[in-house]
Amino acid sequence: MAPEENNDFSAKLAQLRDDYVCRVRDELTQLVALEKQGRGELEKDGRLPQVAASEMRSIAHRLAGSAGTFGFAALGGRARVLENQLDRALTPGAKVSPAWVAVRKSLSTLQYDLQRDIANAAPASQTLNPLQERMPHQDSNQLARVAVVEDDPHVGEDLLLTLEHFGFAVSLFTSPEMAQKAILAMPPDAIVLDQHFALTPMQGTEWVRQLQQSLCSMPPVLFISSSRDFPTLYEIAEAGGRGFFSKPVDVPQLVSRLEKLLPWRQAEPYRVLIVDDDRPLSERFKLLLERQGMVAETLDQPTRLLDELHRFRPDLVLMDLYLPGYSGVTLARLVRLQQEWCSLPIVYLSAETDLDRQLEAMDIGADDFIAKPIADNHFVASVGVRVRRARELNDLLRQDRMTGLLNHALIKEELGHELTRATREKTALAVVMLDIDRFKGINDRYGHATGDLVICALANLLRQRLRRTDRIGRYGGEEFMAVLPGCGLAQVQSVIDQVREHFQAIPFVSDEGEFFVTLSAGVAAIEADGRGHSGDQLLAAADGALYQAKNTGRNRVVLAATLPG
Ligand code: GH3
Ligand code: MG
Ligand code: MG
Repeated sequence: MAPEENNDFSAKLAQLRDDYVCRVRDELTQLVALEKQGRGELEKDGRLPQVAASEMRSIAHRLAGSAGTFGFAALGGRARVLENQLDRALTPGAKVSPAWVAVRKSLSTLQYDLQRDIANAAPASQTLNPLQERMPHQDSNQLARVAVVEDDPHVGEDLLLTLEHFGFAVSLFTSPEMAQKAILAMPPDAIVLDQHFALTPMQGTEWVRQLQQSLCSMPPVLFISSSRDFPTLYEIAEAGGRGFFSKPVDVPQLVSRLEKLLPWRQAEPYRVLIVDDDRPLSERFKLLLERQGMVAETLDQPTRLLDELHRFRPDLVLMDLYLPGYSGVTLARLVRLQQEWCSLPIVYLSAETDLDRQLEAMDIGADDFIAKPIADNHFVASVGVRVRRARELNDLLRQDRMTGLLNHALIKEELGHELTRATREKTALAVVMLDIDRFKGINDRYGHATGDLVICALANLLRQRLRRTDRIGRYGGEEFMAVLPGCGLAQVQSVIDQVREHFQAIPFVSDEGEFFVTLSAGVAAIEADGRGHSGDQLLAAADGALYQAKNTGRNRVVLAATLPG
């Protein structure tokens, strides 16, 4: 195809999609009006508003069928849920009021799904390419997308709702064929798949094999099934399954697995400082790294090196071996003189090919070499491997073993760093203390191991729901602390209140059946124009607010009074 034709083609696709969005908006307005009318009738005589429900059902059905094709997976999945809910409500003998509540709930999120799909949608022409490469999220606030392929709508909807509480963008497919089409058009970040479909003889594992043939990069697949016999497990392992969960699915456990499979999601982008006097070269390196989703900064004045380290806090330094008036080797040694930076990895960028000189340099302070000139892809790969390793090692040292969050000492340290930065840049900063309500009772009733799962679930929820730039730590047993740069009191209140709401909706599984847990939180903040406060003052204020939340009934977020200036 000639380029003009290609452009024309893309423009046309875009126009089609815009028209479709207009239509969907009209249909959503119609749905809202019908629901309101139906609710009025229901409240009057307690009977199902047949006409409104049937009309809503046919709109939902149409939406469910078309949205996926335009790349609007969330909208399509939700419309399918709505359709099923209306089907159920329309079944003779159904309990009308609870059914209508469910309908109303789905309806209230459709608008949001549409917005999210529009925001996430690839350019129209890209959605047609089945061999599209699966790229890690580079936008820090984009939700991880999970496709749930489950032909039992009850199981599917439960999964969808709970996964959404954790902060995933979920599309539900009740037909394996539809799922395949949608996934080829826009591969999700992970797939949760039923191994046994009731209406199709094909098994989940076969479905995976078919999909694999058309996708160049297969998202990780987690299987669910009601049987856990050896042949089933073997088949799943053979098909490359990355996890197995028997029904009823323990969703918090499934989320823990998803989290491990999508490590780039919570991770803050890698930070690389490039120290080189050759500006065009370092700018080019910076660009190459940034295209990979890293944050890179350049420095050509070695005298500013320590300031820059403090300000930027890189994971890795790329250091030119020879700078005018300075030796890279000595600069590395100077960095290592500081306790704070003695384990910061430094990689020399050099034209040096003499092995003895390289070894000597490494002995003195740097960790590795990258020889210039270097092809772009080799440069990016070399830095990528080294910075990942550096981050992993560092994370291991900093993590609370059970939750993977920062440990007590480090979250307090992070508060110090963020406070320094907020004061310097005159930006807002919020501190949150969260504590699980009546947790002792959960341990006593369901056992310590189940208690641990609840702690991990909250850790996962926080990781999914807060931004990558937020710092989250496990402060003590079932107590968490979060530091949110750039957030004032009002903003943080709404974020944490959402966390609270989502947490209380997560069903936990135990031998005695499902149970639910709540949390309390205390919040303190300095505003952008606020005066200087110490980390301890902020912490004490957040802690006081938490204490108040506990004393005034729990399951609530309390804001600390404005700190005295
Ligand atoms: P409140 O609503 O006032 O916060 O009541 P609570 O029961 O949650 O608070 P309390 O501080 O009395 O109890 C916390 C319990 O958490 C006590 C301790 O045994 C338990 N705990 C601490 N660390 C862990 C852990 O790592 N795993 C589990 N399962 N339990 C833990
Ligand atoms: Mg507690
Ligand atoms: Mg406690």
